[in-house]
Parts: sequence; structure tokens; C-alpha cells
Amino acid sequence: MSGRDKSAVIFADVVRRNPGESEFHQAVLEVLESIIPALDKHPEYTEAKIIERICEPERQIIFRVPWEDDRGEVHINRGFRVEFNSALGPYKGGLRFHPSVNLGIVKFLGFEQTFKNGLTGMPIGGGKGGSDFDPKGRSDREIMRFCQSFMNELYRHIGEYTDVPAGDIGVGGREIGYLFGQYKRITNRYESGVLTGKGLGYGGAQVRREATGYGAVFFADEVLRTSGDRLDGKRVLVSGSGNVAIYAAEKAQQLGAVVIGCSDSSGYIRDDKGLDLELLKEIKELRRVRIDEYVRARPHAAFVPGSPIWEVPCDVAIPCATQNEISATDAANLVEGGCRLVVEGANMPTTPEALRVFEGAGVRFAPGKAANAGGVAASALEMQQNASRDSWSFGYSEERLQEIMKEIHASCHTTAEEYGMPGNYVAGANIAGFRRVAEAMLALGLI
Ligand code: GLU
Repeated sequence: MSGRDKSAVIFADVVRRNPGESEFHQAVLEVLESIIPALDKHPEYTEAKIIERICEPERQIIFRVPWEDDRGEVHINRGFRVEFNSALGPYKGGLRFHPSVNLGIVKFLGFEQTFKNGLTGMPIGGGKGGSDFDPKGRSDREIMRFCQSFMNELYRHIGEYTDVPAGDIGVGGREIGYLFGQYKRITNRYESGVLTGKGLGYGGAQVRREATGYGAVFFADEVLRTSGDRLDGKRVLVSGSGNVAIYAAEKAQQLGAVVIGCSDSSGYIRDDKGLDLELLKEIKELRRVRIDEYVRARPHAAFVPGSPIWEVPCDVAIPCATQNEISATDAANLVEGGCRLVVEGANMPTTPEALRVFEGAGVRFAPGKAANAGGVAASALEMQQNASRDSWSFGYSEERLQEIMKEIHASCHTTAEEYGMPGNYVAGANIAGFRRVAEAMLALGLI
């Protein structure tokens, strides 16, 4: 059977065995389609049923999370941890707290994470978790009680050598602190390496907070440099206003770009003079309020409620909000507005239809698996520092991050060329990530 036929059969089986999990199907299809040339070149992968095994998580945990709000009312949420693949190291991947979280979402994220982590070249397997808990509008004490209840179950499945969660949407430094505190209390162990994204005062690492956003911009810069271009002077749009968006904007500004907009679930802001990041950090990191607050302090800027940010003309788009946030229409608007490069800061923000629009228009495209891998790479650096009870300076950590992003870029770029698809970062990232995981799985026997 050809690689193409084989991958079609496997995909049909994945859909049949995982009904209703549309995001998981989408993530699997994208990978299966791009690794066809690798399957043709390496019949040993097909023989050992590597792909069938990769599509099936090693372990899936679903649990009840009961907690009490400030008025004494009881709430029940659902918790997940999907331990996808540990061929390269302990399961590694974030926790997402958002009402949209379900098993299919966690599986798509865990699947993507496996290849992303492979691509970093670091000793980390793939996993993901989270809850359908909605942190919006919840007090600090409520967040703490939820995190403690979540950890009351999660602790038995994680560990420095087993599974190392971190943050994702809705889980930042505050939540990791409460989760770590409860893990320590239950286990009576100060096991720093069990979680990453910790605060700098108790085992966290410099640049972890900035790493996903900074890394995406380092990747964008590499893509531009390969064609003799620079980020300097480009008009950049960033969607979202969380951790990834804020630090992508910060690094883009440091490299001379003008970041003209960002968004949240209520709408977007446009500031042609360039975003005031200190103001944005105060609104989003300290006060945790809606983005329209921005225009109160910067009256020349505009707040546009309810519309996608992609209608604003730009040179470079960095989607940093959530999955499937760029539709075919958004993509057409971006192309029309002059966008020549899309770099995914979020996980799978581009729909397959939108990707086809970009491909048709010759827009360069860097998939999240490669472009946002700086976050998890910095997590692996945090684990390394924890294991040696060391802590590195900001400057050194940032240098390491930049080197890693350069290597990831080079590996995607050369793999795409090797397989006859120069400039196709999707194929390059999928094949390079897949090959690293597949080789380790072959070496480890039937696992
Ligand atoms: N949630 C991040 C990601 O999507 C980071 C995971 C981690 O640091 O473990 O890659």
C-alpha cells in the first residue's frame, strides 16, 4: 500500500474510534497528509505500525473536580490529563482552563505537543490537560480552591520523571503556584521539576513567561532572513492579549516592528502608533479586565467590538489567541491587506481552509508546532535548571531560546527541502517532528 493509501485508512480509523472529536481529527489529518513522503521513504514505520500507535494516547485520565465558590455554592468541573507519548521523555505539555475544554480538544493539543516537543530536540514526551472550568470573573480564592481540588486528583499521575504539566490558556504563574503548593502539600516533597512555569521566587526559570511569544518572533525573523528580508519596519498584527500575544508584541517591537493591534474575546484594538505594552500588561496581567480599557488611556487608538482583527491591513500576522481563529474569509482579508507572513503563536489557530488561501496566495506560513515551540523549550530549560538546582540569567536563557528557535527553523527548512517541498514549513515541521518520535519508538520496541 502506498503511503497515501495507508494514511487514508489510518485516518478513517481515527475518526471511527474517536467520534465527535473534530479538533483531534483536524490535527491528525494535517500530520498524516504531510508525512506521506516520509512513509514512502521509510517502510519500517508502516511495518511497526508507528502511526497507528502515535494516534492512540498512551493514557487518558478524566476526573471530577468539585469546588466551592466564595458564596459557598458547590460546582463540579471535569478535569483531563492525556498522556500522549513518552518515547522521548516524560509527558510534557500545558494545562488549559477554559469552558471549551473537552476530551477532543485536549487530545488535539496533546497530539500536536508530541511532534512539537520532538521538534525541539529536547528530552520531552507529549501530553496535555485541563478543565472546562471558566476562570473569568473568579476571585483569587476561588482560583486557588479550584487549583487545589484539581491537584487532589492530578498529583497521582504526575512527577518529575513521569509527567510535567505547565500552563496554557487560563493557566499562568498564579495557577501554577497554587497547583505546585498543593502538590507539595500532598506529597511532602519539594519536587521542583514536577511543574514548569513556576514563579521566579520558588524554582521558576528566567524567560519562561516570555518564551512562547519571543520564540514565535525569533522564528518569524528567521523565516524573513532566509529570503533576505527583516522584521524591522513591518506592520504586525497580534491576536489575543494573553501571555503569548503580549511577549510576541514585545519582541517584535524590540526588533523594530510596529505592532498595530491585538484582541480579546470582546473585540480588537487598533493603535497605528504601535501598542503601548506597559499599558496592555497593566490591563491584562494586573487588572485582568477587558481590552477596551486600552482606548481610555490612549484615545487616538480604536476599539472595534465583535469583529475579527484580521480585517486590519498588516505585513505579518501572529495569531496568538486560540484554535481555528482564522477562517477562510479572515485569510482572504489578510491577503488583501498585504500580509505576506503568518506565524502561529497559538496552537492550530489557522483553519485548513484558511491555510489553503495562504498557500494559494504564496503567503509564507509557520505552523504553531514549530513557531510556538519556544514555550515548551523554555520549560525543558526550566527542568534542566531544577535538576541541577541552578538558575540562569535572563540574558543567557534568552540566548539559549534564540538558538533553539534557530535550530527548529533550520530543521523544518532543510527537511522540507529534503522531501522536495522547499519553503513548506508545515511539511518540514510535521516530518521532522514525526521522524524524531518515530525513531525513538522503533528503538524502544513495541511500546
Ligand atoms: N502550553 C504550551 C504549549 O502549547 C507550553 C507547554 C509546556 O511548557 O509544557 O506548548
